[in-house]
Amino acid sequence: EQQQLHRLRREPSRTRDGVDIRLYANAESREDVAESHALGAAGVGLYRTEYLFLQRPGLPDEEEQFRAYRDLVLGMTGRMVTIRTLDIGADKADRSGLALRNEPNPALGLRGVRLSLSRRDVFQTQLRAIVRASAYGPLRILVPMVTQRSELLDVARLLKRVVDKLRRDGHAVARQIPLGAMIEVPAAALALPTLIDRIDFLSVGTNDLVQYLLAADRGNDALGDLYTPMHPAMIRLLHDVISTADANGKPVAVCGEMAADPLFTPVLLALGLKELSLHPSTLLQVRRAIRALDLGQLRESAPALLRARDRAGIERWLARASEPA
Ligand code: PEP
Ligand code: MG
Repeated sequence: EQQQLHRLRREPSRTRDGVDIRLYANAESREDVAESHALGAAGVGLYRTEYLFLQRPGLPDEEEQFRAYRDLVLGMTGRMVTIRTLDIGADKADRSGLALRNEPNPALGLRGVRLSLSRRDVFQTQLRAIVRASAYGPLRILVPMVTQRSELLDVARLLKRVVDKLRRDGHAVARQIPLGAMIEVPAAALALPTLIDRIDFLSVGTNDLVQYLLAADRGNDALGDLYTPMHPAMIRLLHDVISTADANGKPVAVCGEMAADPLFTPVLLALGLKELSLHPSTLLQVRRAIRALDLGQLRESAPALLRARDRAGIERWLARASEPA
């Protein structure tokens, strides 16, 4: 079994009917990056920069961040790297001192882009480090917890200012740095048509999207099986987000844990998803699942998936989807 998986390292992530699905990696550490590269990931689809902030007291300065982002870009040797701006909040063990303490509802509080826009000094330092790293290979910027259009306008304005200043000071900067949004707040998913012209790509964070959509804490075991993407609301919302992205010609990926579980691969493909981002530890399992699926058949059965009325209905659809043709 391990050997059989190992052989897939050099194989494409291609469905039985010949459609290539892009598998990106969620990678933070040096080891993750090396492994993602070796497994043939299309690039890094999610680099959580909290990694640099949470493992030490105090804040990493521009140089420290620059070196980390540059090494990430160099490690992927020309494959696209997606750097997510800081997503710290009182919901994460935070030693940087950035997050507010004693927020009554940390998951609904000052986290992600909200925190970045309230600490522009910290945000600008991070953007400068990312933009400087763009001279070393293709990278793009992903903004977490986007809720409304004004946040994207603010980020784009700050980013432009940073780029202009670095160029004026003689730094090499990529000609283009695509800007994307995490779709993980239901408002952003539902009102995606109001945001889509301001973003170059999007990535669905199903970990938070399930949490906020179902009002179910992602870390609370007492909720049993309530916390799951197998809810008709989640299936419908994913369908709408992917369709809106496609209709506007914007690349869309799923980067939450849903993408890392081969059980859900048929669901994501049936809904039209062509890009996934997941930790390298299950990348080959998902590649194997993709290679066993027929995309044409899955797309034909999407209406049946959207008609499922509960988890059991989604599970019945899944059981049918994985029957050999
Ligand atoms: C998500 O919310 O699905 C996600 C990928 O981001 P994080 O798990 O870091 O919140
Ligand atoms: Mg998230």
